[in-house]
Amino acid sequence: MSNIQMLDQHTINKIAAGEVVERPASVVKELVENAIDAKASAITVEIKEGGISFIRITDNGMGINKKDISTAFLRHSTSKIKTIEDLFSVSSLGFRGEALASIASIGQVEVITKNREDLTGIRYIIEGGKETSKEEIGCPEGTTLIVRNLFFNTPARRKFLKTPKTEGGYVNDLMNRLALSNPHISFKFIYNNQVKLHTSGNNQVKDALYNVYGKEVSKNVIAVDYEDEDLTIHGFIGKPQISRGNRTYENFFINGRYIKSSLLQKALEEGYKTYLTMHKYPFCVLYYELDSEKIDVNVHPTKMEVRFHNNEDIFRITKKAVEQSLKSMDLIPEVDLEK
Ligand code: ADP
Ligand code: MG
Repeated sequence: MSNIQMLDQHTINKIAAGEVVERPASVVKELVENAIDAKASAITVEIKEGGISFIRITDNGMGINKKDISTAFLRHSTSKIKTIEDLFSVSSLGFRGEALASIASIGQVEVITKNREDLTGIRYIIEGGKETSKEEIGCPEGTTLIVRNLFFNTPARRKFLKTPKTEGGYVNDLMNRLALSNPHISFKFIYNNQVKLHTSGNNQVKDALYNVYGKEVSKNVIAVDYEDEDLTIHGFIGKPQISRGNRTYENFFINGRYIKSSLLQKALEEGYKTYLTMHKYPFCVLYYELDSEKIDVNVHPTKMEVRFHNNEDIFRITKKAVEQSLKSMDLIPEVDLEK
């Protein structure tokens, strides 16, 4: 008898889901990115029990065509690219066609969606990769996707989750970053029936910053505006008095995406050298716009690393932009407008 067999599709999906779906925050990230790709201007995320038992994402985007709904949940099905050539010009956040298939293979998913062309919408249920219901219903344009009981059929994976509080904290951090990456979208985050974040989507970074970090921080920031042919940096850095004992206040976005970069962190901190004592780290939300040919973003969906082709330039310019903004702070006398 032969010992080698092809795995069935359900098993393949479950194994592959491990790549994309690690925890509730990774589900939220994939689903919010889908909503952004669908051109939503308002996105509501609601979670319960840290997202382990309940995640609901509602968007007012373009919706999924009724006849495409089952296909959307197949592995490698996407509306975003057609050929390998498209990869070089892709501007959407997703293109691998893996998220919905993966999430549906390890959770209980319910979708209600309607696109502009359809007169009625559809309610679709898929649990552990198996379609259990598909019915027409009346609903507004856009998509609501609910994920219940993450890893209900993979107890070994479920055991690796941390407490609901910790998992909810990860989702909260992610929502803050998504709101800051997309000041043109109104985000609402509801955690255990409490509204934790609500941004207006008016495209003002300062307003999003206020919603995320509160009054004390937003009162104590200085604008950064740097522009040359190849690179623009804009955003805000904190006055030295709002620095922290760790790097959680350092936020960098490249071409609309939140990224982690030790190079940018170092450049920022060098710029603050004469302003901060040892083991104090500045606040920043800095947005970089540069030619996508000048960077390599790791295409793995869960990674946030980026490599610049010209490290020295980016380092020097970042440091200079920070120094200049800090100098401008010294020149402007403090005026307390509330007096
Ligand atoms: P990808 O985002 O890589 O294309 P996904 O598995 O995340 O793959 O989604 C599959 C397809 O389902 C998308 O290409 C898109 O056409 C559709 N889709 C998913 N979520 C939404 C949404 N919120 N609004 C409209 N279409 C969606
Ligand atoms: Mg996607």
